[in-house]
Amino acid sequence: MQKKSLAFQENFVLLYPLMIQEYQVRVQPHIAANEQNLRHYLAEEYGFDERTLTAVRTLKRSIDARRPTIFVNLKLRAYINEQPEDDIFQRTFYPDVSQRPQVIVVGAGPGGLFAALRLIELGFRPVVIERGKDVHERKKDLALIRQNQQVDPESNYCFGEGGAGAYSDGKLYTRSKKRGDTEKILNVFCQHGASTAILADAHPHIGTDRLPRVIENMRNTILRSGGEVHFQTKMTRLIFDADRTVVGVETLSTLNAQRSTLNAQRFMGPVILATGHSARDVYRYLAGEHIELEAKGIAVGVRLEHPSLLIDQIQYHSKQGRGKYLPAAEYSFVTQAYGRGVYSFCMCPGGFVIPAATDREQIVVNGMSPANRAGKWSNSGMVVEVRPDDVEGTDALRIMHFQEQMERDCWQQGNRRQTAPAQRMADFVKGRLSYDLPRSSYAPGLISSPLHFWLPKMVTSRLQAGFKTFGRQAHGFLTNEAVLIAVETRTSSPVRISRNIETMMHVRIEGLFPCGEGAGYAGGIVSAGVDGERCAERCAEYLQAL
Ligand SMILES: Cc1cc2nc3c(=O)[nH]c(=O)nc-3n(C[C@H](O)[C@H](O)[C@H](O)COP(=O)(O)OP(=O)(O)OC[C@H]3O[C@@H](n4cnc5c(N)ncnc54)[C@H](O)[C@@H]3O)c2cc1C
Repeated sequence: MQKKSLAFQENFVLLYPLMIQEYQVRVQPHIAANEQNLRHYLAEEYGFDERTLTAVRTLKRSIDARRPTIFVNLKLRAYINEQPEDDIFQRTFYPDVSQRPQVIVVGAGPGGLFAALRLIELGFRPVVIERGKDVHERKKDLALIRQNQQVDPESNYCFGEGGAGAYSDGKLYTRSKKRGDTEKILNVFCQHGASTAILADAHPHIGTDRLPRVIENMRNTILRSGGEVHFQTKMTRLIFDADRTVVGVETLSTLNAQRSTLNAQRFMGPVILATGHSARDVYRYLAGEHIELEAKGIAVGVRLEHPSLLIDQIQYHSKQGRGKYLPAAEYSFVTQAYGRGVYSFCMCPGGFVIPAATDREQIVVNGMSPANRAGKWSNSGMVVEVRPDDVEGTDALRIMHFQEQMERDCWQQGNRRQTAPAQRMADFVKGRLSYDLPRSSYAPGLISSPLHFWLPKMVTSRLQAGFKTFGRQAHGFLTNEAVLIAVETRTSSPVRISRNIETMMHVRIEGLFPCGEGAGYAGGIVSAGVDGERCAERCAEYLQAL
């Protein structure tokens, strides 16, 4: 940006004493670090009297780390002799729907929660059914996985209020091209307590320490508006009328594991089915009912964990790492190996690797990070594309069976506990056992294992080729300081529940709206939320037409 002449500045202030002006700037990280520095910068650069700058708001922020000198690109809004608006985000109004027709929403993940909130906006009463516990009670069961090496099949990192996204990194970016849809989701998160920084950041994230409060606030909005939320209540089957239209669900309480008819309940209304990609009992039930499903491709592999300092050094081109003003560095890799994609997935800078299994005899790993991303390690999934044709057979559940087999094999290799089989990265590429392992964030512990030997060849050969490519692209990335932790299998849904593109209803069954990641139409928190909103809209139209 060119500095304006003094004469111009004087006229500028005289002509526009009250105004809001937007600027696109490219500054060094220490300037972007706080509002005071930005005010000073704008005043200097554009010749304002700094005292006339009432406030400076950051509308967009991204880091350009392609070259040794790191810049932060900012879109700023300067308030010159003007007061900034009170709300930085757009509020949604949620009316009282206690007397309105009800819709059953199965699953309180992002798909189900956003469906429920949108139903309220549209004047319908959501009844949310969730097999797991509320977001705070759930936390105790997560701690038990570490302490007792035991996974509760009804309350774990995938099941419970907030769904699979509750104890995650809370990354909120999506490949969705519809900006309006995504912005609505971010604004609803802000209204329920997320930092408004998510509206500005190019790669927004909430953080696992902040997500539970946001989710609890969303539940309270549902309850305050006259909706219902039932925890520890598992849908066991759909209720059909004589025309095979879905008119409700039957549930059992998961509070008491004994299957007693006393625990059985019925909830009546059309059903938004948002049960996520890990509810294998739901897929089995649907297949048993001859409800059309299709096998869907997934990606499987391992979690890769490096010291975060090493990733910062590589990405920020500096021995000092990220320094005082930059966040923990991210990376993203993608290549092709032997005709299939190999890529990094769900990167968690400064985060933890976590045990994300949903049943006792399986190991599944994933990642999460707190809002400050200040942990000692950075991890990401490193996965290989698996297409439906890569697995023999025609069964719609075959990719799910393949996934299950990998998870069971991993549990056996991990001594039938949650201790995860692991191998140093360079050892894996060279096909040799690691005699020791580096320290790791994975709390249940690691056990050295020749992953190159027992993981499916179609996965290991491609990961080895991919790692060599990534090592060439980023010097220092392929290193024995990094460890691979097995197995990462829950990257997306292995099944698609066939639905009509217009009505979003199941292709053959009226009253059933397959929704979110488990339906095979979304991946990630934001896209599940967008899908939840769309399902709610189509369901509202369906009810209005009855
Ligand atoms: C550890 C981890 C970290 C992740 N990190 C990120 C991230 O940073 N960013 C991101 O975008 N995505 C992340 N993801 C993926 C993201 O969480 C999912 O894409 C998203 O949660 C899918 O939303 P959903 O509502 O469709 O399904 P889910 O979130 O899976 O929710 C489904 C809900 O349905 C419930 N349910 C299942 N069966 C039944 C039944 N029979 N009866 C009643 N309830 C039932 C489950 O208990 C669950 O609460 C992460 C996932 C995990 C596991």
